[in-house]
Amino acid sequence: KMFNEIQDLKGNIRVFCRIRPFFPGQREKRTTIEYIGENGELVVANRSKPGKEGHRLFKFNKIFGPDSTQAEVFSDVQPLIRSVLDGYNVCIFAYGQTGSGKTYTMTGPNSATKENWGVNYRALNDLFDISQRRRSSIIYEMGVQMVEIYNEQVRDLLSNDGSQKKLGILSHSQPNGLAVPDASMQPVKSTSDVMDLMDMGLRNRAVGATALNERSSRSHSVLTIHVVGRDVKTGAPLHGNLNLVDLAGSERVDRSEVIGDRLREAQHINKSLSALGDVIFALAQKNLHVPYRNSKLTQVLQSSLGGQAKTLMFVQLNPDVNSYSESLSTLKFAERVS
Ligand code: ADP
Ligand code: MG
Repeated sequence: KMFNEIQDLKGNIRVFCRIRPFFPGQREKRTTIEYIGENGELVVANRSKPGKEGHRLFKFNKIFGPDSTQAEVFSDVQPLIRSVLDGYNVCIFAYGQTGSGKTYTMTGPNSATKENWGVNYRALNDLFDISQRRRSSIIYEMGVQMVEIYNEQVRDLLSNDGSQKKLGILSHSQPNGLAVPDASMQPVKSTSDVMDLMDMGLRNRAVGATALNERSSRSHSVLTIHVVGRDVKTGAPLHGNLNLVDLAGSERVDRSEVIGDRLREAQHINKSLSALGDVIFALAQKNLHVPYRNSKLTQVLQSSLGGQAKTLMFVQLNPDVNSYSESLSTLKFAERVS
């Protein structure tokens, strides 16, 4: 049994790369992207080196270029989302420096229309759609939690009283238990319920932050959809969860330039992103020991990383030459885990 479980891990981690476009009004558009292949090959170029000297090749399960649409991206995510209704735990997260398009991929642009909805809204929409229409033999109920992890503290983003109390995390004895049992669990019946909740979550996230963008680039937000199903005939229960994660910006902070709060933030972000990398690396290597305990982020996500869970990482890139060194470090992070 053990052997089979370990074998099954292979194929349960997928890595997609997404390159955001230049801004329409941007004057200088020098790109580090040299080549995008049909089979997931990406060549990035260090433009300060001549010819092919600065070229490096990376491989992904799939690459979405600057012209890719939200709908195209979602069509490759959809099968994972649907497996939640079969009782799988799924984790989808976006990794990359601030400004590389993580929030665009996961949520969409500010005041998104249905056309440019991100993965979050499309996923929820799809879950409701299928659970209501296509699977009448199983009755589903869904609940949503949304937390923020900032400086290794977990905060509830959906509490009605706007309370900011720190929340504890349960270590996982049972894979379908709630990781953060004290975070508000809001029942949802439609996509518009979810939109309202997400608006509320984003508003709560802004509390105490000088600017929403600043805070959101230094904290991780985790939207969890819990799905409980019951077979109408047999009564058999089913449980799956979907974690959708917008990670803190991965940019390296020059330690000689920051002090106090900023330094502390940077250290916490660094620690949690490397802990995430270590967990996925251990899973990809099929190591018996997976170091979930090293950060709040990996503890919160534990039930949807490893075991039978399915994991998808979006590696987000800003194509600008000025972002070359950050892009390279993002690509190296991805290379280690894929
Ligand atoms: P991050 O969350 O990584 O800091 P954002 O998602 O906020 O980055 O993206 C930075 C900016 O680029 C935003 O204005 C966003 O709307 C825009 N953007 C990102 N990705 C795309 C894309 N694929 N198509 C169009 N605009 C994008
Ligand atoms: Mg963002």
